[in-house]
Amino acid sequence: MTELFQDPERARAWCAAVRAGGRSLGFLPTMGALHAGHVSLVRAALEQNDAVCVSVFVNPLQFDDRRDFDRYPRDFEGDARTLSAAGASMVFTGTLAQFFPDASPVAGAGMLDPGPRAAGLEGDLRPGHFAGVATIVARLFELVRPDRAYFGQKDFQQTLVVRDLSRALGYPRIVVCPTVRESSGLAMSSRNQLLSAAEREAATVLFRSLEAARAAWRRGVRDARALSDAMRAVLARSAVAVEYAAVRDPEKWTAGEPAGPLDHAVALVAARLASVRLIDNALLDGR
Ligand code: AMP
Repeated sequence: MTELFQDPERARAWCAAVRAGGRSLGFLPTMGALHAGHVSLVRAALEQNDAVCVSVFVNPLQFDDRRDFDRYPRDFEGDARTLSAAGASMVFTGTLAQFFPDASPVAGAGMLDPGPRAAGLEGDLRPGHFAGVATIVARLFELVRPDRAYFGQKDFQQTLVVRDLSRALGYPRIVVCPTVRESSGLAMSSRNQLLSAAEREAATVLFRSLEAARAAWRRGVRDARALSDAMRAVLARSAVAVEYAAVRDPEKWTAGEPAGPLDHAVALVAARLASVRLIDNALLDGR
């Protein structure tokens, strides 16, 4: 049985009781409309912790685009069923006012600084996005006080930002889980629900562009520009509007394109299709 709370304070009390009982607690923050990618995070958390708690909150602080926020899929009851079937111990949600009872943060006031790795790519294209992510994730960590928190590699730059946040807070341990894909290669995403079957097929070009970068890496290409050119060559033959196709060193994150040959590389892509914004990435050096 998955406990269900519509009130963050009750969730806080439940988590405190778990910890007081000496049980370890795994946590994954989500925005709901849960799919197999989220379920893989629940499974990983269940393997490593005595109890697993999930938050479902479409966080307005991290949306730079009002229309994207308004049409983001929401299905709390369906999510509760998915989490019950997956074996999660507790799921909670709340409103912005419940999460921040003193004063809701707004752009420029009460938002956390997401740190240097928020610069570049997603940080440039979605101003304020990572400040909104860091602000809610820090608040959720404070409520839950998990031993471990689980994030998907799908949101690669977000994993860098939350690692920096956990380092600053001194907890929790961050576990990054691989991206779960459709058999077509398309990375699972709640936003895929907004695409028609034909658009989902067209969206596989993101994955194919990452595969092209991987193939170039295997051929010995180590230059960021040459690797991203291989991605753009694939994307150019498609219906998607590319926001970026880029390669970075995942360990020495730089806002701009790294110069010189790379030892480690992550290829990242963002594109719009039918006004739905999609992102994906792949580590190229086989890890
Ligand atoms: P979201 O609900 O989109 O905010 O995602 C909640 C968590 O699930 C984040 O850590 C995401 O990176 C992760 N996630 C989303 N999609 C996938 C996927 N296809 N595979 C693995 N993790 C994912």
